[in-house]
Amino acid sequence: MALQNQNNNSKGIILVTGGSRGIGAATCRRLARDGFDIWLNFHSNTEKALEVKKEIENLGQKCKLLQFDCSNFNESQNILEPLLEESVPYGVVHNAGITRDGIFAMMPQHEWQKVIETSLGGFFNVLQPVIKPMMRARKGRVVIISSVSGQAGQAGQVNYSAAKAGLIGAVKALAKEVAKRNVLVNGVAPGLIDTDMTKDIPLEHVLPLIPLGRQGTADDVAGAVSFLMGEDSKYITGQIINVNGGLYM
Ligand code: NDP
Repeated sequence: MALQNQNNNSKGIILVTGGSRGIGAATCRRLARDGFDIWLNFHSNTEKALEVKKEIENLGQKCKLLQFDCSNFNESQNILEPLLEESVPYGVVHNAGITRDGIFAMMPQHEWQKVIETSLGGFFNVLQPVIKPMMRARKGRVVIISSVSGQAGQAGQVNYSAAKAGLIGAVKALAKEVAKRNVLVNGVAPGLIDTDMTKDIPLEHVLPLIPLGRQGTADDVAGAVSFLMGEDSKYITGQIINVNGGLYM
């Protein structure tokens, strides 16, 4: 299979969902610094996606922007299938996620649905087509961005906690299915990270709960993803690394 769209100095291609902002953008930059080319998926923020693409190219790596809604099966397939005819990514980071917070008793069905469809539906829509060629290539890494909310449960986030806990189950099951093909599947569970997603959270209530006493940065999470994409993690699969300052142990 031809490895087009890949630079000669590249360690391979990594597909990152939700790569235009926050943790996804930091992950794209970090993986480019590690020597990977990037397929950067985003939903709507073209301006931010273009900024990240430029930074990746300035680091000497290639970046292909893939605008699609990962919660939409047909949209995801229509973009990914033709690309997969030509190239097999070495890795996938499923990072895209949204919150629609509110108490469960009052939660509209569409807010339950949208959160689940983006995180958990996105897992199926993006990974299902990519995992087959990765298995045929007999190498590869998958990293899923879960959350402390999926581990501890968070009041006001029953939808999000369910989606993120579901991803942990999916990581462990898929890790068992594809290990024989040398494809490793792990998760990262961030705590409170300073991004657009958390800008309205009142820090005075949350910081006292964090033993390290601060919010994490998107780069803190990207560092764990980088480790899980690298040589030093080649005997690690089916695991969840907590990047949470001690918030949940
Ligand atoms: P941001 O809101 O800052 O960024 C979200 C990213 O996901 C954007 O790039 C956005 O694209 C993209 N996105 C959203 N919906 C879709 C979709 N349907 N299809 C494709 N892309 C989509 O979030 P964070 O960086 O904070 O979060 C990243 C991940 O980390 C999420 O899964 C989140 O749940 C998880 N997480 C975050 C924590 C935190 O404290 N920030 C804590 C624990 C987990 P666009 O720019 O086009 O809108």
